[in-house]
Amino acid sequence: MKVDLEQLKKPCSCGRTHDISVEEIRIESGAAALLPRWIEKKNYRKPVMVCDENTYEAAGKTVAAMLPGIGIICLDPKGLHADERAVALVAEKLTECDVLVAVGAGTVHDATRYTAHERGVPFISVPTAASVDGFVSTVAAMTWYGYKKTMPAVAPEAVFADTDIFSKAPVRLSASGFGDLLGKYTALIDWKAGHLLTGEYFCDTICGMELDAVRIVSENLDGIRTGDAYACEQLMYGLILSGLAMQMIGNSRPASGAEHHLSHLWEMEAVNTHVDAYHGEKVGVGLKIAADIYHRFADYLESSDFALSDYKGVETELLTYFADPDVKKQIEEENAVDPLADIDRAVLSCKSGELAKLLRKVPAGEEIAMLLKKAGAPAAMEDIGLSEELVPLSARLSPYVRRRLTCMRLIKLTDFVL
Ligand SMILES: [Zn+2]
Ligand SMILES: [Zn+2]
Repeated sequence: MKVDLEQLKKPCSCGRTHDISVEEIRIESGAAALLPRWIEKKNYRKPVMVCDENTYEAAGKTVAAMLPGIGIICLDPKGLHADERAVALVAEKLTECDVLVAVGAGTVHDATRYTAHERGVPFISVPTAASVDGFVSTVAAMTWYGYKKTMPAVAPEAVFADTDIFSKAPVRLSASGFGDLLGKYTALIDWKAGHLLTGEYFCDTICGMELDAVRIVSENLDGIRTGDAYACEQLMYGLILSGLAMQMIGNSRPASGAEHHLSHLWEMEAVNTHVDAYHGEKVGVGLKIAADIYHRFADYLESSDFALSDYKGVETELLTYFADPDVKKQIEEENAVDPLADIDRAVLSCKSGELAKLLRKVPAGEEIAMLLKKAGAPAAMEDIGLSEELVPLSARLSPYVRRRLTCMRLIKLTDFVL
């Protein structure tokens, strides 16, 4: 299928006209074969492909055969992460080039989009797995010297997502992509809550578009586990749509909320040791936890126990969990402005019923767990090697990894006990 970008560029119901920089998105069987024509049309002379040894086998060699003379940067997948080291490995091998071609999943894409931004060259995306929603994003989510950061980068000018390639990816990668997609449930509610309480800009069309994609994918979960082409294609479509939503809004607000903050916290290893799990796996578990808490918080908001706390600002004593001085400094900078300062307590009191209704729109934790399991993704802390006992601390600490209003952060304005 060809994503109708022209339709999305039309003036929107939210009053804005959304910006989309990607020029072409194809999600279909044989899409990779469209790459040579694109290179020719754009008159690129020195394309360079970035891949790793696994994605070279899965798709890179096909691309190399189609484009004789293409430069190849093939990374060792062992210990490869979206961090300063991966970027340095690409930079080390990159000589002349006028376009980069990312052939891989999330890590290869993040390293490529960052490098493309630095070099001032465009890049083309050939995703080899439906594993993350960041393929068309304008920013790269990277760990930069231990701190999980959103780095400036560029969106691809074209995406050629070939079903024959990504539907054959290891099932664990597709299941992880489903976790990332399902995370929209809390991300979108966090965004809506921001709109409800502070009047923050919100786009109903984009929100609806994302929820539709999540629903369609949720109806084909057996297919994700079995690598069914249709199910994987729908998943890729949903993930790309989520990335487009970020591009259209200009930041990750429509795709990342409390569930991603939990995942980022665990990646930063402030309260835990290294977690050997994919991004979407951590997001899925984060979502299950956030969903449980949001439902309990909704009950609390409607109960006679509901009371505002004497919150006095960022809990600096909690931030000492970030032991690395550089990481701690970054966290402090992130929290120099407290998103809770925008909240009028009287408004929170008077809109607590509406907020509770919003929170209940997130499917209950058991339902989230059931969906994740059905797709073959982890659903509980133990599944990703973390202790269940870490939940309350993670929930308290994780809102501080980003300067963003989430319902998890809002809890701090009340006496609700995590
Ligand atoms: Zn809009
Ligand atoms: Zn994500």
